[in-house]
Amino acid sequence: MAQKILVVEDEEKIARFVELELVHEGYEAEKVFDGRTGLEKALSGDFDLVVLDVMLPGLNGLEVLRRIRRESDVPVIMLTARDAVMDKVSGLDAGADDYLTKPFAIEELLARIRVALKNRVTAAVHTHRIEIRGVCMDVDRHEVTVNGEPVELTNREFELLRTLMENKDIVMDREKLINEVCGYDYLGETNIIDVYVRYLRTKIDDRFGVKLITTVRGVGYVIRG
Ligand code: CA
Repeated sequence: MAQKILVVEDEEKIARFVELELVHEGYEAEKVFDGRTGLEKALSGDFDLVVLDVMLPGLNGLEVLRRIRRESDVPVIMLTARDAVMDKVSGLDAGADDYLTKPFAIEELLARIRVALKNRVTAAVHTHRIEIRGVCMDVDRHEVTVNGEPVELTNREFELLRTLMENKDIVMDREKLINEVCGYDYLGETNIIDVYVRYLRTKIDDRFGVKLITTVRGVGYVIRG
């Protein structure tokens, strides 16, 4: 399902442009033009992230942010006027995840949105243990055991396994896995994931006689639960 982003910005041209770009990137987007409506929508629980301008009619953006934070930890990226240092500081103090100074490049906003969404997902999933067919991952402790026996994994092997376990039954293509395991700025070989899958199979499947990671030909990999 597409992630939904709320854009609160009274300059309609900017709001419209951001909305179009977000939709083009595969998000669902909705724009509103004043602080009160923005607050109401942000608290509706319908949105995964809020882009919030500081200078707004009705309630200003900082006040909207303060009121959002009383009830919700939805990621918020603030848009501030150029050199408005006070706005930035106040915004971060009030619980903004990030801010961007106008005028901004849309690519920069999209990058910040990706990071904020990813951080939020990471924060949410890092608090639990995942167990699938005897393979147990403690994400906080960065530990993996199979049938109670510890398995030593490198960071990237761990991240790959974590991504597949967290997305149980969802086929993950190589590009998604590369983003998760190596980061969005990775420019190396695209077969890197196949290499790490091979390492994981040696360390887990071969050693413990399980069949954990399934290859989906032409697509990627999946762990079925
Ligand atoms: Ca404005």
